[in-house]
Amino acid sequence: MAAEAHSTATLRLTVGDLRIAHPITVPSGRVPATEVVPALQGLVNAVVAAAEAASVRDGGAISCRKGCGACCRQLVPVSRTEGERLLALVKTLPGERRERLRERFAAAETIIADAGLADRAGRSDRELSQAYFALAIPCPFLEDESCSIHPDRPLVCREYLVTSPAELCAGPAQEGVTPVPVPKVSMAARHVQGDDEDWFPLAGLMAWAAARSRKSERRTGPEWVQRFLKGIGRK
Ligand code: SF4
Repeated sequence: MAAEAHSTATLRLTVGDLRIAHPITVPSGRVPATEVVPALQGLVNAVVAAAEAASVRDGGAISCRKGCGACCRQLVPVSRTEGERLLALVKTLPGERRERLRERFAAAETIIADAGLADRAGRSDRELSQAYFALAIPCPFLEDESCSIHPDRPLVCREYLVTSPAELCAGPAQEGVTPVPVPKVSMAARHVQGDDEDWFPLAGLMAWAAARSRKSERRTGPEWVQRFLKGIGRK
């Protein structure tokens, strides 16, 4: 079988005060949007690395450490494209691990439903985030306070870094937390497969999976990347 063809280009972006030049490689042919997620992860990593370097230059020291999962109790907004990629990842896990995850997702979804947060309609993002954080639901992928899918974690998880003492992140109102100002490039993924904002809270992955539309478009890798880039900075 012939090897799949790929296209490579160097993306030059200005996001906030940061200038990024990042090589990106994606399939040349028509593929589902999920196929370009690794390339988008690399791009977000590059933006985060530039923001981190700027913060360090300004005297900030990143205090995030392996084993500190305080931020993994926040509402983690995940785009449809990333949701589909995560579902495919979960399918590849051994049965026992899948079962543990299924239980954790079911427990999280019960807490969310009991708190009346399953329906997001009529709530601002801020209101929703605060209500979620108050529930202190650990992300189902959190194990021993570390991310069990670290290389595959969602884009937005990569963008959260702080320079304040780690213990402040667990505080009820997160008072005194100083996040590194990372441009939220991840939000562009919400528009990749359509004009409407398409996202859901990560803790509701399995509930979303059961209700989602299975219609899936195919486009070339460069086309998907263009759609992502168009979404950067969009509200
Ligand atoms: S996916 Fe990983 S990094 Fe993101 S919230 Fe869950 S455990 Fe934390």
